[in-house]
Amino acid sequence: MKAKLVLFLFFFLLVGCTPKEKETKIETIIEENKHYKIGINYPVTQYKKIDDAIIGYINTCYQDFLNEQEKMISLDTFEELNIDYTLYQNKEYISITLFKTKNEEEEIETYLYSLKKDALLTIEDMVSTSEVYTIANTLVFERFGNVLDLSLLKQNLHTALFSIDHETLYLYYPPYTLSKNYTDTIIIDIPLEKLSIQMEKTMNVNHEIIEAEIDLEKVNSIIEMNKKVIALTFDDGPSSYTEEIISILKENDAVATFFILGNKVKTYEDVLRKSLEYGNELGNHTFNHKWLTKLNDEDIKKQIQDTQDIIYETLGYTPVLFRPSYGSINKRVRNDISLEVVLWNIDTMDWKYKSVSKIRDRATMNAEDGSIILMHETYERTKKALPEIIQILKEKDFVFVTISELKQIEALRKYNG
Ligand code: ZN
Repeated sequence: MKAKLVLFLFFFLLVGCTPKEKETKIETIIEENKHYKIGINYPVTQYKKIDDAIIGYINTCYQDFLNEQEKMISLDTFEELNIDYTLYQNKEYISITLFKTKNEEEEIETYLYSLKKDALLTIEDMVSTSEVYTIANTLVFERFGNVLDLSLLKQNLHTALFSIDHETLYLYYPPYTLSKNYTDTIIIDIPLEKLSIQMEKTMNVNHEIIEAEIDLEKVNSIIEMNKKVIALTFDDGPSSYTEEIISILKENDAVATFFILGNKVKTYEDVLRKSLEYGNELGNHTFNHKWLTKLNDEDIKKQIQDTQDIIYETLGYTPVLFRPSYGSINKRVRNDISLEVVLWNIDTMDWKYKSVSKIRDRATMNAEDGSIILMHETYERTKKALPEIIQILKEKDFVFVTISELKQIEALRKYNG
């Protein structure tokens, strides 16, 4: 008995003393038939308490939706359930916000986990609610005037949904909770520097600056030899598959452009640095995958700038390209963006198709000189399709270039006539 206890204690100490870097994985559920479509993405952090809470919520949403569908099976309806998320992680906290949309109805769920305490936190664990109330009160009044009932803001504060990132505390008030007339979710963002939360400074640039440089030698030789070029692009990462994706590219002497989300940058700092060293390019894909056309100008600029900032602070790298999440862009959004906007002309639809061969065929069948192929680095099936995609394109005599190289080649070809 005693020996067992000692062994147990020893094991506990050993585990306790060597905190392992845990990697967040993304789980995806996609189901579609003629009555409904389900698209769910959720993170698995490998920290049990927050994972259990999230999986519990996802299961409930999923089951409720299916039960409802069963009741409506005789009706000719088409319903949609989507759940997506944003994640911010530093050395102390993991903050996850889930965005659920059922048809037009939106619902938000938030989780804040403390790595040090191994516990989920409430807003009262984080900050003094009276302090938050005072600041939120002013911000809400500035923005909404007297439309909202501020006493409700105070009453609901202890149950408020909230999240953090490197510089902001966000409070979420569901429709109607602050006003009978206000049908949208109200998000109040409070700069952390206004609160007495001391965020660990994790973002010192303590390494060499990596330049977003075009490989001119490569560009010139491609033009001279009159080669066909193609650009592979991956959205929504980085993810747990990125490391393997960049290895596959390197083994095949290929490069790609990754349109990444600001809120995932810190988690994958090392992989991103390696990716740049391998000659890949990073572009901006918003901070947390918002529909930009639904945001006001200020929020659009913030989505882009926060992503530029965290990429620069983490990697010393400044993206020059932007791809809008959901491809959601219009004239107004374009006006708010100073980066070059890059869309695509070959869509693998890898979010929809589960078969590796289908993704491979869609990527390669219509490939032409100058094509830009859209994929996502968040699916295992895409990673699995990549070696064959590269192989087939190589057999068709394509050279892989980054988007900036592609633009340079196009410009020089035009100039040379
Ligand atoms: Zn995206």
